[in-house]
Amino acid sequence: MSEVQYLRPTSLAEVQACLQQHPQGQLLAGGQSLLAAMRLGLTQPSHLVDLQDVVELQDIRVSHDHVWIGAMVTHARIAAEGQLQRQYPMLAELAHGIADQQVRNVGTLGGSLANNDPAACWPAGVLAYGATLVTNQRDIPADHFFTDLFTTALQAGEVLLGVRLPACASAQYVKYEQPASRFAMVGVAITRTTANTHSPVRVAITGLGHGVMRWPEAEAALQAHWSVQSLDGLRLAPDLAQSDVHASASYRAHLGAVLCRRAVAAQTGEVAHLPRPAAPSTPRAPQTPASLAHTNRANHTTQHAHNPAAISGSHHLTQSVPQVWDALLDPAVLQPCIPGCESIQRLDDTHYSAVVKVGLGPVSARFVTQIHLQPVRPPSQGEPTECRLQLSGQAGSLGQGSAEVVVHLHTEMSDAGTAGTRLMWHATPQLSGQLAQLGNRLVQASARSLSTQFFVRLTQVMGGASTAPLPPSIFYAWRTHLSRWLQRFFKR
Ligand SMILES: Cc1cc2nc3c(=O)[nH]c(=O)nc-3n(C[C@H](O)[C@H](O)[C@H](O)COP(=O)(O)OP(=O)(O)OC[C@H]3O[C@@H](n4cnc5c(N)ncnc54)[C@H](O)[C@@H]3O)c2cc1C
Repeated sequence: MSEVQYLRPTSLAEVQACLQQHPQGQLLAGGQSLLAAMRLGLTQPSHLVDLQDVVELQDIRVSHDHVWIGAMVTHARIAAEGQLQRQYPMLAELAHGIADQQVRNVGTLGGSLANNDPAACWPAGVLAYGATLVTNQRDIPADHFFTDLFTTALQAGEVLLGVRLPACASAQYVKYEQPASRFAMVGVAITRTTANTHSPVRVAITGLGHGVMRWPEAEAALQAHWSVQSLDGLRLAPDLAQSDVHASASYRAHLGAVLCRRAVAAQTGEVAHLPRPAAPSTPRAPQTPASLAHTNRANHTTQHAHNPAAISGSHHLTQSVPQVWDALLDPAVLQPCIPGCESIQRLDDTHYSAVVKVGLGPVSARFVTQIHLQPVRPPSQGEPTECRLQLSGQAGSLGQGSAEVVVHLHTEMSDAGTAGTRLMWHATPQLSGQLAQLGNRLVQASARSLSTQFFVRLTQVMGGASTAPLPPSIFYAWRTHLSRWLQRFFKR
């Protein structure tokens, strides 16, 4: 393992020079997340570019219509800053509610935002404010900054300088803490402005599991009438949340709605009556590709409430069913489409073997994967066609992964009236060994990312795009995302 070099620039210009010179280097803020990830071997930058002496990133400036907070300002400074306590009390309180004094003394606003932990408080606060995140290259509205779990719009070499938050009439952040880490099990931030803006009320929720998100229905209700009562009857759909060892998706969704009421009540002085419990719903039959056939024409990936590990997706492809079928059985097409796939070999008509390198575990691991294909109904037997795949992969000492995947294809007319293919898949992944401890959220997060990339790429390749392997940036983004998830998992 090569040694990591430590660099300590004193200006933004020097930081940029360091990153240009050492593209495998990584910015170091307080190190709360990054050093933990390095200790676990989840990331191994060539250089650490420490930002603590960069004065351009240290300011808090309050003006009549906005506040500027530099990326390197710690949670403790934000909590203790008198002007913020008076004019932006929500920010000071949010910062004060983060973990313990030691964490607050070292953790930074910029590090938290760049990390984009799906249970972190700052992404919710910043999104609710409709803040602007300013980098050395551009201004990014908060609505476009948080792109996925542990993933942001920041590009390689981009440095977050700070955040500009507009003044608002009232703001509140309420969280229900995960007792061990004090991260938000769920947290809700609400801001309300009396200025004539497009969104006078903004509601942002963290902790549901898919990353911070706004709740448009609550915003519309509160815009119509600024009171707890206006939220009566509003529920967050459980499929907006994820289950893990700490809480189920439906519990998280329920908590989100309750906390939203409490946040409004804290501002209006009302009592945050709990919403009436929803009537028990009829248990749904497990969804298979066939049962999904007519539910949704859009492309999507879904998590299943009855089996949190199961996922499914549905995609429209412009090619015919036989063309899609052939492509799915062709290693020359599959290899460039599967993120991190180093090789794939057809052993016989029904057996394949693949080597896929992913960022699972302490170091990026090679999964040696065996694939057994069972064509249940090939195109020659008419539609809908269907095949089953049994995948089993060995990830060395980390354990094994396996999945049963059902793929279902039928002809579908596009909105433009041309015939294409609707491809639906349903997978039940399982992990064993050490990997099993990581739980459904990891499987969900990685499977969602991978399947999205796979189908985007498949559509491109079938449309005639080059079959060159995926650009490293895409693969890197996914690995980073997964590594950060693992890093937080181990921190708890
Ligand atoms: C026990 C514990 C409990 C916590 N509880 C909470 C909580 O309740 N709520 C909450 O919001 N947070 C919480 N945190 C998060 C914590 O406070 C930090 O904000 C977070 O871990 C990021 O750490 P950091 O600021 O030290 O950044 P680092 O770990 O140094 O960096 C994190 C990532 O951001 C990148 N980065 C840092 N600065 C920049 C920049 N200026 N530009 C671009 N990229 C940058 C780094 O390269 C790295 O990838 C908790 C942390 C711990 C350890």
